[in-house]
Amino acid sequence: MNWKRELEDNVTTAKELQDYFHWNLPKDDEKKLKEIIKRYPMSVSKYYLSLINPHIENDEIKKLCIPSIEETDLSGSFDTSGEKNNTVVVGLQHKYKQTALILSTNKCAAYCRHCFRKRLVGVNDEEINKHFGDIITYIKEHKEINNVLITGGDAFVNSNRIIEDYLKELNEIEHIKLIRFGTRVPVVLPTRIYNDKELLNILEMYSKKKTIYVVTQFNHPREITEESKRAVNCLTNLGITVKNQTVLLKGVNNNPVTMAKLINKIIEIGVIPYYIFQCRPVVGVKNQFQVPLKEGYRIITETRKLLSGQGKCFRYVLSNEKGKIEVIGDLNKDNLIFKYHQAKSDEDEEKVFTLDIDDNQCWI
Ligand code: SF4
Repeated sequence: MNWKRELEDNVTTAKELQDYFHWNLPKDDEKKLKEIIKRYPMSVSKYYLSLINPHIENDEIKKLCIPSIEETDLSGSFDTSGEKNNTVVVGLQHKYKQTALILSTNKCAAYCRHCFRKRLVGVNDEEINKHFGDIITYIKEHKEINNVLITGGDAFVNSNRIIEDYLKELNEIEHIKLIRFGTRVPVVLPTRIYNDKELLNILEMYSKKKTIYVVTQFNHPREITEESKRAVNCLTNLGITVKNQTVLLKGVNNNPVTMAKLINKIIEIGVIPYYIFQCRPVVGVKNQFQVPLKEGYRIITETRKLLSGQGKCFRYVLSNEKGKIEVIGDLNKDNLIFKYHQAKSDEDEEKVFTLDIDDNQCWI
């Protein structure tokens, strides 16, 4: 099936979900589900749904894509890393000197329940690129920018024509040395890649002119299938580097055995484990998915012990208003050591600091 038709066939309503799993939810539960979907849309490809084991109550893939009542918890924030303040043109963020980030769409092939852009995915396009020319002009004028991340939403949900437009324009800019696409398509709709010769031709043509990375997000070992491997192989065969950013998520991957299995499988299919992100305190996400920082550090430390040197090349980071901050160690049972990996302000660049962290504290 063509990927666009596959996308149209996504499960998006409470009824479709019940029909798919032959569920018959009590009226009250159905009503709650509908209310949540109205606020935070659901959209899941049939492929991704097929990875769920319907007989397991707390199935991890289910937790990643099916709404839960916990999403009605209103604590947290909708913009945890100050994205609005970093917006320089609608759809373009410039937080770190060398990096421009383009919000190319508010659509995804599947809406992750833990998404940190819940404020916009599937609901609001106010922050999405509408003035392509203005964005390109800004990037041209800012010669300190040497890499661009095209994200969203999901960059590969854009049409091939739009993807090619980005590549064509950015290819013309001398100071741009690296173009990255942020996409979960290899995980949730791999046919978008391996069944689309036109997309692969476009990527092949431009990867000969500029370095292209695809940054994806595998969060659980069961997401790595023959199909996702095939999608990744199509990209790596073109000379494109594929990197992974996992989010540390309660009830999904918050134990060292699962995390190490995930990272080993990622490496096995040719993907580089790049970051493990601390889940952000987003409304509807925070209490459902966040793992306390000290526990997170313990999980990551135990995970590392199960990995080879290549597996250990990721960083455990959190991304807040001030930058991307790596958790690098602990001094004692109350303390954690942090280091700026990327800083918004020059004075924080490479800074190392320690903080007393409560047992239940999930964010700084
Ligand atoms: S693919 Fe990315 S942007 Fe889309 S819902 Fe998932 S985490 Fe959010």
